[in-house]
Amino acid sequence: MHRFDVVIIGAGAAGLFCAGMAGQLGLKVLLLDHAEKVAEKIRISGGGRCNFTNRDAGPGNFLSRNPHFCRSALARYTPQDFIALVQRHRIGFHEKHKGQLFCDESSDDIVSMLLRECEQGRVTRWQPCAVAAVRRVEHGFEVDTAAGTVAAPRVVIATGGLSIPKIGATDFGYRLARQFGHGIVETRPALVPLTFDAAAWAPFSALAGVSVEVGIETGHGKQRGAFVEDLLFTHRGLSGPAVLQISSYWAPGQPIRVNLSPRAELSEALRAAKARSRKQLGNQLAELLPARLADAWLAATPELAVRAVAEAKDKELDTLAQRLQRWELLPSGTEGHRKAEVTAGGVDTRELSSQSLESTRVPGLHFIGEVVDVTGWLGGYNFQWAWASAAACARQMAAA
Ligand code: FAD
Repeated sequence: MHRFDVVIIGAGAAGLFCAGMAGQLGLKVLLLDHAEKVAEKIRISGGGRCNFTNRDAGPGNFLSRNPHFCRSALARYTPQDFIALVQRHRIGFHEKHKGQLFCDESSDDIVSMLLRECEQGRVTRWQPCAVAAVRRVEHGFEVDTAAGTVAAPRVVIATGGLSIPKIGATDFGYRLARQFGHGIVETRPALVPLTFDAAAWAPFSALAGVSVEVGIETGHGKQRGAFVEDLLFTHRGLSGPAVLQISSYWAPGQPIRVNLSPRAELSEALRAAKARSRKQLGNQLAELLPARLADAWLAATPELAVRAVAEAKDKELDTLAQRLQRWELLPSGTEGHRKAEVTAGGVDTRELSSQSLESTRVPGLHFIGEVVDVTGWLGGYNFQWAWASAAACARQMAAA
């Protein structure tokens, strides 16, 4: 039987990074993945340019039942650490928006970098190689794989979440966690477009393709999420960064609130226009919002649209402004794991060490990356969690 110091299951972002680091720290590592191609999710990420970290990533950018859990790993492997690695590999990158760093050329550069790191760590990678079972034995674990049974004192589960099953996502990590007695915080698609009932959405479907910066929020108290981001109207509902961000906080049955003019008080702007403008209200509104949005908004009240703004009553202007700045919508659902960027929920952090991502129930068993109940915002945070949790795990395994 082949023996290793550690068997890592899942050669995605967290698995590859953990394998390279653990190998370079002197461990004999086997990395297994059932997919034909290595790290497909990195390859398709960031529109093919991989938003590999966020300069400003901190614990406040993550959702988890225990919001403090991610603190330790994030503090010990920072965005600056990963940026230094990218620079050592001479990969060009740029900042796009709000601290988000993307490759200049292609996300393949990050995959190649991680593979080179694995080579330097003399990592053995078996891929594609299915895993049938993981068993606890006297001095660690035995793992039954399509290439035979292997043994190791440590096993790391890095099989990610449920999003995009067609490129290899499975529930393996959650099943394995349950097998060893771990709880799972209910999983759900996150960073995902929201859908609306066709009838309720009909007045807005003409807006497909319109993009506008909005304030968006949902929930209350500790469950509240609020962002200022771009919103994209689609034929079936809403998408774009604003909706992807808020979807992670959305719960079925809960409304979302949208401010279609987050940087200006519309009632003030309309009242000011009333004092000096000779335009119709529809045309006036089209100066404050995208014209197609203004048209669609006033389509239900055509008499108001053609009224001269100077003749509109203050109360009418205030009501219009309030509706536009506190637009409440009730999503019917999400587009599901097929379209989600990540899975919220996952292996409950209460029985994991925040220092090493090791199970406190089953010594030698670790969970890293997206399979854990730590979910980042849109903008490079999920990869930063993959790198940071992998580094915490690799260092602790090597030091043990
Ligand atoms: P993954 O990278 O998903 O790796 C899991 C690996 O486990 C896969 O290789 C899979 O084949 C393997 N596996 C699964 N089941 C089994 C099994 N039963 N046996 C063996 N192997 C198995 N995040 C960002 O920060 N920035 C971005 O720009 C970004 N863009 C994204 C774009 C898209 C379209 C998607 C879907 C996600 C994006 N993300 C982005 C999220 C990010 O890709 C993930 O959070 C990150 O890849 C998680 O890393 P991981 O290693 O935990 O899981």
